[in-house]
Amino acid sequence: MFESDPTLTIAVVSKVYPMRSHTVSAEGGAAAVIKPNDSLEDHIYDTISGADWMCDQDAVEAFVNEAPKEMLQLEHWGCPWNREEDGTVAVRPFGGMKIQRTWYAADKTGFHMLHTLFQTSLKYDPIERFDEWFVTRLLVEDGRCQGVVAVELATGRIQPILGRSVILSTGGCGKIFPFTTNANIKNGDGMALAYRAGVPLKDMEFIQYHPTGLPFTGILITEASRAEGGILVNKDGYRYLQDYDLGTPHPKPVLRSMELGPRDRLSQAFVKEQEKGRTLEGEYGHYVHLDVRHLGEKIIDSRIPFVRELCLKYENIDPVKEMIPVRPVIHYVMGGVHTDIDSATPLGGLFAAGEVACVSINGANRLGSNSLTELLVFGARAGRSAAEFAKAHQGFTNGIESQVLDEENRLNTLLNSDGTEKVADIRSEMHETMESGAGIYRSRDTLEQSSQKIRELQERYSRVKVEDRSMTFNTELTSILELGYMLDVAETIIQSALQREESRGSHQRTDFPERDDDQFLSHSLAYREDDGSSRVDYLPVKITKWPPGERVYGEKK
Ligand SMILES: Cc1cc2nc3c(=O)[nH]c(=O)nc-3n(C[C@H](O)[C@H](O)[C@H](O)COP(=O)(O)OP(=O)(O)OC[C@H]3O[C@@H](n4cnc5c(N)ncnc54)[C@H](O)[C@@H]3O)c2cc1C
Repeated sequence: MFESDPTLTIAVVSKVYPMRSHTVSAEGGAAAVIKPNDSLEDHIYDTISGADWMCDQDAVEAFVNEAPKEMLQLEHWGCPWNREEDGTVAVRPFGGMKIQRTWYAADKTGFHMLHTLFQTSLKYDPIERFDEWFVTRLLVEDGRCQGVVAVELATGRIQPILGRSVILSTGGCGKIFPFTTNANIKNGDGMALAYRAGVPLKDMEFIQYHPTGLPFTGILITEASRAEGGILVNKDGYRYLQDYDLGTPHPKPVLRSMELGPRDRLSQAFVKEQEKGRTLEGEYGHYVHLDVRHLGEKIIDSRIPFVRELCLKYENIDPVKEMIPVRPVIHYVMGGVHTDIDSATPLGGLFAAGEVACVSINGANRLGSNSLTELLVFGARAGRSAAEFAKAHQGFTNGIESQVLDEENRLNTLLNSDGTEKVADIRSEMHETMESGAGIYRSRDTLEQSSQKIRELQERYSRVKVEDRSMTFNTELTSILELGYMLDVAETIIQSALQREESRGSHQRTDFPERDDDQFLSHSLAYREDDGSSRVDYLPVKITKWPPGERVYGEKK
């Protein structure tokens, strides 16, 4: 943004110190075409078919075309991509990508990418940081977004931060579900802020499960462990994926690519195994085993050292000698704030990029390693669009002050309220109903039950109890605000899932098991009604060159 126009001043607001954003925990890598045997066309096609044709093809084309340039830009800013012996950028295989095209920095790719971006931002004086400031509201006046209201967590001070344009890059909302790889800060804040300001949330029914999380903590065991040769076995030690249709071109999956089938199909196969009584059962539910022992200590330590570290620290097992217990866990949300290809939302001055946004390139199922690259491509597009908008709109309109006062009153009333409901109770009941009603498989019955439950929880939320009245790092207050965001977003997930009477990618309806392109080759748009409920509308998917086909996977030589 600053490079687009050096006269601009920019505020970076984050509820945690920026290096603690969830991106830091991404392990596997970031996809972009770089090898001579690869082509832009192949990356585009893999992304479209992986998305089960729910993505906008113009957005996917822009994404794939601009990805290599942005990845190289990151290298020039200092990102230490792994290298082949001949010095060129190294790539690794990733699920659903028919050719190896995932760049990586050991198994700490997100850490290195975030560090590179953060250290580069430090060069620019006009960037002012608001670290540990929590945004509670968007300021919308005269039909455009003109800033935010935020609480400084260290002091409890409530303050407006004005901006002629605002970019949301607040990440996903995995914490709406009980088992997730997502950090505690991923509560859908930005989605709810935009939704409350009248901006629709797009494709919220599409939630990605990752097939290999640790059962209790949900900590991710990266797909790289399967890319390196790890296998999934059931309670009898049987490699069960061979019994399932993973979309590979053969009647039975090819042994080599079996564990690298798409994440939705692998997670669905787990549920089927569980139904057949072939999973193991532990304190935290059902699980299967990921076996990497045959790779040997040397490969485990050089290619996936973090996997060994996580297993030792959090499960007290050594994957060199023991199998790793895993289960599907919520990993990523394909839907988000509705934006166009230039990252603009329908609300003037409001832009969104990253997991909070839905452009959309991920459709019904994101391919692993496309998301980190998406941050770069659409982050850059958002920066350029926001800079242009800011130049064209000088000054702020009257009326903002009264909105800030309103927000101060709302927060002070909340802080001093004498409610009866416990935040932890509402949160765990929300978790339960989201997993049972809107999990890997859904139906009208389960979704309707969850819908009722979420309405009940929203009503109880209005009577939530605040015990901590302090102004300094009041984490009780922030968890209450986050719960409010999550309940709003949960409502959009359920309503969008209820209306989509078909099965596509990560959205599997047991009562509508087939994909239905005639009726549902459209994005859902969930709007907030005055009574807090969601109204769902549709917008046709953009097809440029690739008509809907069958999702077929398999490694290209
Ligand atoms: C464990 C894990 C591993 C992954 N591995 C990969 C991978 O290998 N490859 C890949 O492509 N993708 C991967 N993903 C997905 C990818 O990492 C994420 O989608 C991506 O990093 C999200 O980045 P983001 O910038 O949108 O949000 P985040 O990195 O989550 O950042 C959100 C920011 O918004 C701020 N914020 C949020 N709410 C507020 C508020 N109310 N007020 C102020 N600030 C706020 C936060 O403080 C934070 O700074 C992984 C995800 C996880 C969870």
